[in-house]
Amino acid sequence: MIRVTVWNENRSEQLIPEMKEVYPDGLHGALASFLGKEADFEVRVATLDQPDHGLPDEVLNTTDVMLWWGHGAHGEVPDELARKVADRVLCGMGIIFLHSAHYSKPFKLLMGTSCSLRWREGEFERVWCVNPGHPIAKGIPPYFELEKEEMYGEFFDIPQPDELVFNGWFRGGELFRSGCCWHRGLGKVFYFQPGHETNPTFHNPYVQRVLVNAVRWAEPVNWRNQLDAPCQEKPVEAMHADGETLTEY
Ligand code: ZN
Repeated sequence: MIRVTVWNENRSEQLIPEMKEVYPDGLHGALASFLGKEADFEVRVATLDQPDHGLPDEVLNTTDVMLWWGHGAHGEVPDELARKVADRVLCGMGIIFLHSAHYSKPFKLLMGTSCSLRWREGEFERVWCVNPGHPIAKGIPPYFELEKEEMYGEFFDIPQPDELVFNGWFRGGELFRSGCCWHRGLGKVFYFQPGHETNPTFHNPYVQRVLVNAVRWAEPVNWRNQLDAPCQEKPVEAMHADGETLTEY
């Protein structure tokens, strides 16, 4: 089973009444609903206003892949929690940052750049798959269209993605790297631009497919239990002589 935690700041849901028409159970509810249909996913949701901001150690330490949606309340996520999330990624956890999570604290920590971009609300978007051999592109046609999305445009101040899977073209003429992959430590990071809170984007079957694929791609391969630099007192050859071996990354 892949243990999936959907984290949502869950604030737009309170501030924008018309969101209820699109996402009656909130963005986290919509995400958990289609992800939960996968037989090999074990899905739970977490929100900012829960105790420990939804991510006590027992949740964080039993999460294989996290999805993160945040927008207006990035500043309310404590620095210490953001560091813990980023460190968990370095230890092996996969993480998928959605839409305005480009400005979330954990994303900025993992990227090390300003993560700024251009934006404008309410645009037609054509999402082009530019890496059809990539696991996240499985079952995705050469392009799919979103009648209304928020335009995010270049320059997107991110480190060069290890793999670029989607490019978004907007009717207004802008272009954006809409689906980007990075490896950080033992963990994998996917950023996906579509998903503005008042648009029905997460009901789109291709968007759902992308995110299901992304969870599988981001599933941890190996874990580290600590991030400190260990002193290797005993040489490996001496360990072998004693019938021992290295077991920790
Ligand atoms: Zn937005």
